[in-house]
Amino acid sequence: MQLNLNPVEPAIEATRHFLASNQKKMLLNNDWVDAQHRAVIETLDPATGKLLATIPQGSNEDVDAAVASGRHAFESGVWRHMLPAERAKILWRIGELVDENIDELAELETLDQGKPLGVARWAEIPGVAEQFRYFAGMCSKLESSVIPTSIGYQPAGKRIHAYTLSEPVGLVAAITPWNSPLILTAMKLAPALCVGCSVVLKPAEDTSLTALRLGELCIEAGLPAGVLNIVTGYGSVVGQRLAEHAGVDKISFTGSTLTGRKILDAAKGNLKRVTLELGGKSPMIVMDDADLELAIPGIANAAFFNGGQVCVAGTRLYVHESIAKSLYAGVAEYAQSLSLGHGLDPATQMGPLVNRIQADKVYGYIQSGLADGAQLLTGGQQGGPNHTFIQPTVLTQCDHNMKIVKEEVFGPVLSCMTFTSKEQALALANDSDYGLAASVWTQNLSHAHRFASDLESGTVWINSHLMYDASLPIGGYKQSGWGRESGMGAVLNYMETKTVCAVL
Ligand code: ADP
Repeated sequence: MQLNLNPVEPAIEATRHFLASNQKKMLLNNDWVDAQHRAVIETLDPATGKLLATIPQGSNEDVDAAVASGRHAFESGVWRHMLPAERAKILWRIGELVDENIDELAELETLDQGKPLGVARWAEIPGVAEQFRYFAGMCSKLESSVIPTSIGYQPAGKRIHAYTLSEPVGLVAAITPWNSPLILTAMKLAPALCVGCSVVLKPAEDTSLTALRLGELCIEAGLPAGVLNIVTGYGSVVGQRLAEHAGVDKISFTGSTLTGRKILDAAKGNLKRVTLELGGKSPMIVMDDADLELAIPGIANAAFFNGGQVCVAGTRLYVHESIAKSLYAGVAEYAQSLSLGHGLDPATQMGPLVNRIQADKVYGYIQSGLADGAQLLTGGQQGGPNHTFIQPTVLTQCDHNMKIVKEEVFGPVLSCMTFTSKEQALALANDSDYGLAASVWTQNLSHAHRFASDLESGTVWINSHLMYDASLPIGGYKQSGWGRESGMGAVLNYMETKTVCAVL
């Protein structure tokens, strides 16, 4: 396997400065603190295995302290009763500070997660700033309703005045994954803060650095003490405690379906509200009239962007049998052209996977596909000093019952199948436990919109895949989750509706 692994140092002085104090602390009531038991977790550069920093390994006691801090801030009203226009200014300022520090945040994300710098710098971190700006704009627009009633037994001569109040749900625990750490964090923090909630954030143990840096920026922007607390540590300890905690009103989780189920179980004690953005196995349907010049790079990008570590990655390709040969050849050529290496190397188009465990898992999936009879068109190798690189891989002659077609792989692996009719394509695409995203590639408008209507999927892209915006709701049908993030409706995840009914 060809890899660009020339030693590359961060170009930005601020990144070097952040990493120079390499025993990072976590955020409690606007103070930076160690874990109470002083334990730490080493955070590594996934490309090389080199130590970047240590982060506190939080315990139950750290969670309890963060929950107490968040509850106190919520109950004091310092944030939820702040004038909406003032809350808006602080959220807007966070967005501005993200932009002002964008090069540093992008380098940190690349070092910590492995992704190519261009992905962090031009796709993900700008999206972080945009989330804060989008929801800053909503702080002053959270209206409630006056409701006409038809209550037959109202006292004679009286009138009813009924209305709703939209109130923040309380203390939110936000648990985030390691694939696109900061943008997925912003998708929770921005709407939760917009409506006046306090938050305890638990970033993924492999990729906590940008969340900690964002915490610094939130303080700089003027977020009052205790409104945002960050507890780093393992999911089985910190995440589990947050999900169980009676002091937490709401869990907002992004991660695997398996962990989502554990969180649901843990959350039932106080029936806390739960939003889940879970796994996917997104189908891409390519009709015989598709524009292949658009479809080939679009499909390859859907499968290989961020090393396939994307919950909405296009992983099941259904192609009309009449064009399969040329489509497969184009996608394989694209895969072979991708240059793999350290994310900070400007030549790199695909980085390592986040850690060895994930790379071994993905390699195991490729082997299972081959054992089940799939054909390797390109890729298939694992390598690199830390064994974290997986070549972009295309498997053809897949069968719908193979494990590689059914389960989420979360790596750069595309499973290809053919169809002969659009009815067959639709049935195959919908035959999945997941329903997060899908794409349709055709020049026939009628086919495109019929598929958009009939696909069981939270998002359907037409002649594209992976189009994101702070304004576009994202979330899953079926076992891909509960609720939607981004877009105006995302604030509803963090609100309760109170009905007030007065006899006047
Ligand atoms: P993966 O298994 O690929 O690491 P997860 O879905 O488990 O992905 O991880 C997403 C987030 O969930 C991480 O922040 C992780 O620490 C956290 N997590 C893992 N297990 C639990 C758990 N039992 N309860 C709560 N959070 C958890």
